[in-house]
Amino acid sequence: MARDSRYDVLFEPVRIGPVTAPNRFYQVPHASGMTNALPRVRAAFREAKAEGGWGVICTGACSIDPSSDDAPLPMATMWDRNDIRAHALMTEAVHRHGALAGVELWHGGASVMNRASRLPPLSPSGIPWMATHVGFMGNLRPRSMDKADIRDVLRWQADGARKARTAGFDIVYVYAGMGYLGYEFLLPEYNHRTDEYGGSIENRVRFVREMLEVTRDAVGKDCGVALRVSLEELHGRPGTHQPSEAHELVALLSDHADLFDVKMDSSPTDCSASRFTGEGSHEPVIDFVKKMTDKPVVGVGRFTSPDTMVSQIRRGVLDFIGGARPSIADPFLPNKIRDGRIEEIRECIGCNICISSWHDGVPVRCTQNPTAGEEWRRGWHPERVAPARKREKVLIVGGGPAGLECALTTARQGHEVTLAEAGSAWGGRLAFERTLPGLAAWNRVVDYRLGRLNEMTNVSMYLESTLGVDEIIDLAPDHLVLATGARWTRMLYSSMEIPVGTLDGPEVYTPDDIAAGRLPQGPTLVFDFDNYYHGGVLTEHLAAQGIDVTYVTPAGQASAWTIMTNELPLVHQALSRRKVPVRTLQILKEFDGETATLAHLFTGEQTKLACRSVLIVGLRAPRGQLKDALDTRLADLETAGIGSVTVIGDALAPGAIAHAVHSGHLAARELGQGGRKPYLRDTPITDREPGFAPAEAAE
Ligand code: ADP
Ligand code: SF4
Repeated sequence: MARDSRYDVLFEPVRIGPVTAPNRFYQVPHASGMTNALPRVRAAFREAKAEGGWGVICTGACSIDPSSDDAPLPMATMWDRNDIRAHALMTEAVHRHGALAGVELWHGGASVMNRASRLPPLSPSGIPWMATHVGFMGNLRPRSMDKADIRDVLRWQADGARKARTAGFDIVYVYAGMGYLGYEFLLPEYNHRTDEYGGSIENRVRFVREMLEVTRDAVGKDCGVALRVSLEELHGRPGTHQPSEAHELVALLSDHADLFDVKMDSSPTDCSASRFTGEGSHEPVIDFVKKMTDKPVVGVGRFTSPDTMVSQIRRGVLDFIGGARPSIADPFLPNKIRDGRIEEIRECIGCNICISSWHDGVPVRCTQNPTAGEEWRRGWHPERVAPARKREKVLIVGGGPAGLECALTTARQGHEVTLAEAGSAWGGRLAFERTLPGLAAWNRVVDYRLGRLNEMTNVSMYLESTLGVDEIIDLAPDHLVLATGARWTRMLYSSMEIPVGTLDGPEVYTPDDIAAGRLPQGPTLVFDFDNYYHGGVLTEHLAAQGIDVTYVTPAGQASAWTIMTNELPLVHQALSRRKVPVRTLQILKEFDGETATLAHLFTGEQTKLACRSVLIVGLRAPRGQLKDALDTRLADLETAGIGSVTVIGDALAPGAIAHAVHSGHLAARELGQGGRKPYLRDTPITDREPGFAPAEAAE
């Protein structure tokens, strides 16, 4: 199908200094959890995006020296010739598809703890980032840089830039964002210097300007030099000659960078979850940049709508449509717009499971795209599935995320697929969860899959069809997949930090009750030891309906795990806006219909709270009745010719939607193969590697 001419502007080439991007789709640097120890995994992950039409593909943060060491968080390095070869795998892969490759050289300054290298962190003035999140906390404070230290960092940047050129990169970054070293020079809170690097904005940008200068000298004439900078704080500070210090920074550095990559200052605002922030949320902070420079500007905003993208270009906000999450969720987003297949875009839902992967220290996972990170090790392509050797009948029971994904992927293999769902709507748990405050965009998981399934002729789909053993035997599929989901239990929680006992009674609710339309009466206590989003969002849901709610959790914070998805501060803000008291480090001991007894998790000290209802958001258990019943009829299944029974998603192990989608995809790829297949294990590239050519590493 031809593309709409309105979108032609997105496919114009754009110059970045001496190099030219083939279009305006720019995969900005983003954490992928893929270190230099996973060079093939990383190259294949990035190659999929180049194949899918992104015109520029960048690395994530790439350390220029062991004094910038984020361990145990995964980070790339550009320290030695082994690193050059590891990166060259990616640049070669990206170039195969005509895209440019960019590298985000990075020094973390005071925000890294150098846990592995054991070097004192560097900083402009010895001011540490005192994070409250235990994963980022450290006990080693940074030292103040003297002039020799500044010269060292400039030299490391230049060395890194030269190595990057040897590795084949077309764009080399200077990074001055997100609390890292360049940013620390820009902000007076970090920079207390009294020399020529501190004081006025002209002095505070000096270090970043020198980083740009040494980079340009190092890379030569045929490589672009990009500046990535966080502008949120500086935008809020009045300038001397310009409306803000952010304006002054852009004016001062305009001649030194070939491209401005502009962003927010902290992960929760930069990579904000859709639950709290919409598409294009950076615009009010960064919309001035293009007015201050004739250099191209790239920015992000979880852009998935081509109309929004065109609007950003036409209104002069951006030159490039930056994408991190949209490129993870759909590496083929540009090609789908190019080919007029907009409805096939697998839109990012803004859940931030991807960023949680980095916090977890592992390669990226994505709720929408189960193939992310699996391109090399499992050979999964984001758009293509090998056709089945033999067309078989596949029956999938349950139309939630796992069942829908399994149905789509088995149907793409060419099987004859039947999908049966007990409920009156597709989506399983999402049928309710999409109605909760801020979660509407999550239904894209259902919309994308339903849209594709509805186009296929080898799929039969039935709502309001509760299947039992007899119906399944009558249908006699070759393969049976059970995607029947999980239910919430009424289990409580002990000071040993395990679920224990249950709480029963008419005014004790679970999220399933709320989903079924039962609303608690009177003051309600929400007891959350699930710790992800459900407890917080259900509390918001109840409060929005005028119910007086108190949120109680044994964790140290509300929805504690959402620190991993950048949502935690915003969860607390949302609960505060709804005037919900938050009680942390508390376990629920008893509830007699009028009073709840709480105990401090560590001290056991008890307190009472008057309430009429309790909502327990705790443990989920698989809906396993159907599987149990089938297990008693194995002979009948065999007679019916049912060759395999596979349990997937929450019915197998309750988890996040990302787990369910991946489980459904895996089951489809491995259908009828008789069990779990191993995946390839990547290894670092070293100069002991056969075929490694030391000449490539001329540094
Ligand atoms: P997952 O996240 O693993 O996809 P969900 O709970 O979202 O799990 O979806 C499971 C779906 O399975 C629910 O929509 C539920 O109605 C459906 N289901 C459960 N048991 C049956 C059954 N026996 N027949 C048909 N559908 C079922
Ligand atoms: Fe988007 Fe969620 Fe995928 Fe991240 S994990 S790219 S936020 S859908």
